[in-house]
Amino acid sequence: MSRPRLFIVSGPSGSGKGTILSDLLRRHPDVFYSISATTRAPREGLEQDGVHYYFLTHEKFEEMIAQNGFIEYNRYCGNIYGTPRKPVEDALKEGRSVILEIETAGMRDAFAQYPDAVTVFIAPPSLEILGQRLRGRKSEDEEKCLRRLKKAEEEMTHSGDYRYVVVNGDLEEARNELDRIFLAETADL
Ligand code: 5GP
Repeated sequence: MSRPRLFIVSGPSGSGKGTILSDLLRRHPDVFYSISATTRAPREGLEQDGVHYYFLTHEKFEEMIAQNGFIEYNRYCGNIYGTPRKPVEDALKEGRSVILEIETAGMRDAFAQYPDAVTVFIAPPSLEILGQRLRGRKSEDEEKCLRRLKKAEEEMTHSGDYRYVVVNGDLEEARNELDRIFLAETADL
């Protein structure tokens, strides 16, 4: 038996949280992954609308904000990111566990509404390694990279607000650690 939970997962881009979470979803296909909406442009050749994000115009995004369509939303590097409310509420009603992959300010807003949520921060082993990973991605120019790094540094100061911190030094270990957290927190004891 398992108890459905809402998981809120944060970690700077480049922390490897995307890879770790896709592995968790493969292991637990009944889990609902909340697809965020963003005004950011898709990463060419890598991201698809409705799969990685719902890519919205600023206008459409603002319209949804006005209709209370988001559990939380936040501005980040010139764009807005938010968690559409209805799919999450529907999945929880169906008794499915849900994963929100959002940044630290979004976690605080979502957690205020779902105080039973399990919060997990995925951290890179160091900011230096994070910088190398972001540069290796090559999807962004140096200036954007630096802004992300600065944001990452700021995000790392909030890791203590989370129930769990998973340090992603070794990918396999980090995957297993998140899986253990998931199994423990969804166990219906
Ligand atoms: P990226 O542009 O690298 O995909 O995401 C940038 C940041 O936005 C990441 O820290 C990511 O966790 C965060 N983010 C993605 N979706 C959401 C969301 O729905 N709400 C909030 N608050 N942050 C999000």
